[in-house]
Amino acid sequence: MNLALLALPKKRCLELSSLNKRWSFERLKVPDTFFWPKHALSPGSMEIKRGIAVSAGVAIGPALVLDTESFRIPQRFVESKQLEEERRRLHEALAAAARDARGNQQAVTEKVGPQYGAIFAAHAHLIEDPTLAGEIEALIVKEGFAAEYAVSRIMRRHAKALESIDSGHLATRAVDLFDIEKAILRNLLGQRREQLQQLLEPVIVLAHDLTPSETAVLDPRKVFAFATEAGGRASHTAIMAGALEIPAVVGLGRFLTDVSGGDLVIVDGNRGIVILNPDEETQERYEHMRSSLLSFESQLGELRDLPAETRDGERIALLGNIEFPHEAVHCEERGADGVGLYRTEFLYLGRQSDPSEAEHLDAYLTVLHTLGRKPLVIRTLDLGADKFATNPDYNADERNPFLGLRSVRLCLRNLTLFKTQMRAILRASAFGDVRILFPMVSTILELRQCKMILAEVKEDLEEEGIAFNRKLPVGTMIEVPSAAIMADQLAREVNFFSIGTNDLIQYTLAADRTNETVASLYSPGDPAVLRLIELVVNAAQKHQVEINVCGEMSGEPIYTLLLLGMGLRQLSVTPHKIPEIKKILRSVTVTEAKKVAHEALCLETARDVNNFLREQTRRILPEVVG
Ligand code: PEP
Ligand code: MG
Repeated sequence: MNLALLALPKKRCLELSSLNKRWSFERLKVPDTFFWPKHALSPGSMEIKRGIAVSAGVAIGPALVLDTESFRIPQRFVESKQLEEERRRLHEALAAAARDARGNQQAVTEKVGPQYGAIFAAHAHLIEDPTLAGEIEALIVKEGFAAEYAVSRIMRRHAKALESIDSGHLATRAVDLFDIEKAILRNLLGQRREQLQQLLEPVIVLAHDLTPSETAVLDPRKVFAFATEAGGRASHTAIMAGALEIPAVVGLGRFLTDVSGGDLVIVDGNRGIVILNPDEETQERYEHMRSSLLSFESQLGELRDLPAETRDGERIALLGNIEFPHEAVHCEERGADGVGLYRTEFLYLGRQSDPSEAEHLDAYLTVLHTLGRKPLVIRTLDLGADKFATNPDYNADERNPFLGLRSVRLCLRNLTLFKTQMRAILRASAFGDVRILFPMVSTILELRQCKMILAEVKEDLEEEGIAFNRKLPVGTMIEVPSAAIMADQLAREVNFFSIGTNDLIQYTLAADRTNETVASLYSPGDPAVLRLIELVVNAAQKHQVEINVCGEMSGEPIYTLLLLGMGLRQLSVTPHKIPEIKKILRSVTVTEAKKVAHEALCLETARDVNNFLREQTRRILPEVVG
């Protein structure tokens, strides 16, 4: 077992909270079937990785590493009487992996020539090398490791050694070693994929990437945090982490090769840092952070029943963004003024058929039941791009899914699907302050089509004698630059606007919101984005339509002053961000915010805007920025 883990007295695993989350400690139980050897391997040296903070909170715990093929490589030990069996498993897996490599060699040679087949011949040669088998076997016998862990450990050690040699050619050979590792693991694990929803012990999940649907099934009691090599700040995976309140860092670049299952890891979702094998001093520092966070958190808790009102008396509606019906409770617990964005895609995830009208209605009524008379904005289906459904009908194999048949475009081609959801939304409107919101609208005609279908559905319900709110407020998301540019015209067609900065930023700057390699371009503070927001706010004010911002930007403390100063009076944020944003709103005046916005809008680069806003926010509330 990792010594660093043992260094945590009694509590083997602890979860540190975010600014807004409670601190909690959990004991990590040792599974009955395994035992920890007396002479554990010494921990690797501490390494700090920097990525993109997407879900606040800090957690410390043992790593569960999922490589690109989602193999789990746990640090598992076997009892001495099982060592023989473990060696047998290893040799069988090595033999099978060598056979696979020779098979590949033959197939590839036939298809593309012997020079390519030779790559696999080299793989087979290495796998059959008795020195390699000897090294792995020694780790099994001496340390009591399970075969898959020993394989992973040895192969990664060699790969890292190659990578560290200052030679491009040798470094690329490391890739072959990872391939070989996978080939052996595939045989050891029998192609098994890790079932993240069936974890027995609390872990920190480290993966190349997690899909939104994989993230949706994570159990926050078992997954203390996750960190991924890929991913961007506004990816749906990141949003899902926020919804589940699991601390997360994404876009770390390649790091999985530096870590083994069971290693102690800290994920700092506040600052976008992942620390592998933290030394004792670092662990202590994180424990110290705990007390200051706790006191700030209790201050925030006291705000729950106070209004989000500026120092000069301007009342701001602070609403919650939700993905799952039960999150309405999280909104209530944080004193939200309602739900400003209910993303309904979760109803379609993980199933082969569409949800029925009754299933939609049931979900909406669950939320209404919690909210009482507070507003609930239900957004119609926004599937596509990074929001994948499991139903193959909606996973068109497109060259460019972010620009393809997604969201409202998809609904307009599937009227049964669209009308089913509209019927449920209308029926729910008989029971509370429900509003309907259309996503990804890019032209006025598209919006008119949506409204026309809504009118048809109303007629049907009327004929059937089913109750609904005839004046159901209709809104459009402004998340495509064309919609922002045409806001003046769109405002005549709707009751409210909701600015979706997550998409607005990616489409304005042509920077994929899920792609870590263009993360530096993807910034809410970019002057181009700010100018579009300004256009939309002006149009909304001119036509007196309500307007809010529901993208992740509205929950990022450094943008609160800016949005307030630009004229926003409604913000819809991830529930756990509500207290922090309320605290900022209650600490400033509109006059101050207007001044800040005015200055920010004169700046020419995202970096200048962000630095300026960070400074201004720090001046008012150092705790939220520092
Ligand atoms: C947005 O694009 O800002 C938004 C709120 O929608 P989503 O993140 O669900 O695409
Ligand atoms: Mg969007």
